[in-house]
Amino acid sequence: MKRRNFIGASALGVLGISLSSFSMLQSKFSKDDLMGKSDPALFGNGYSLQKEAYEAFVKMKEEASKNGFKIKVVSSYRNYAHQNRIWERKYKKFTSGGLSPISAIRKIVEYSTIPGTSRHHWGTDLDIVDGNAPQPKGLLLAKNFEGNGPFCKFKEWMDKYANSFGFYLVYTDKVDRKGFKYEPWHYSYAPLSIPMLKEYQKLDINSELKKANLLGSDFFTEDFIEQYITENISDINPELL
Ligand SMILES: [Zn+2]
Repeated sequence: MKRRNFIGASALGVLGISLSSFSMLQSKFSKDDLMGKSDPALFGNGYSLQKEAYEAFVKMKEEASKNGFKIKVVSSYRNYAHQNRIWERKYKKFTSGGLSPISAIRKIVEYSTIPGTSRHHWGTDLDIVDGNAPQPKGLLLAKNFEGNGPFCKFKEWMDKYANSFGFYLVYTDKVDRKGFKYEPWHYSYAPLSIPMLKEYQKLDINSELKKANLLGSDFFTEDFIEQYITENISDINPELL
């Protein structure tokens, strides 16, 4: 498949391309773009982000480096197939450990997304730690970013400066926030991810999930999907809405 940029209707106009030939008429992003099923142009060395997010990230990384931190990307863009591998691995692990299908699903969505619903599909989000600090076995654990945890100083720096580069924590530790648990490692490049979330929320996620044919998706109830959309997808840092 030919690689292409996420490209806006106005840019298409400038290029003199007939809009009617594009499926992205109303939206800057197609359903496939939003669900990790397209093949976007991505940038980064050892990680993958959309161009604008990549450029902002490089600037932040340089600034962090001047302050003694070496930003290490644990995860960035993930496509649908990748997310599905994570889903299947966890589903099998939890169900073979004795959980019922719906309990396994509820446990997965404490930290991981249903394929097709991950912000990692967008090329705007990434999970980061400080590569200069001691590396504990499980890198992405909240305790590493709290108290005397190895990434504490880095987290303090990010709290102060990430926003000025356009990066915001998605799953905050706000007491009454629902959905995914606190993820002090997961940042999103707001100038791109805000419009993408707006487009994403226009999709009929309910019917997409029903036809997705995932491991365990026969056990998705209407209530579960409804709750997943309002809490896991939409109950995030309000600065990213
Ligand atoms: Zn993440």
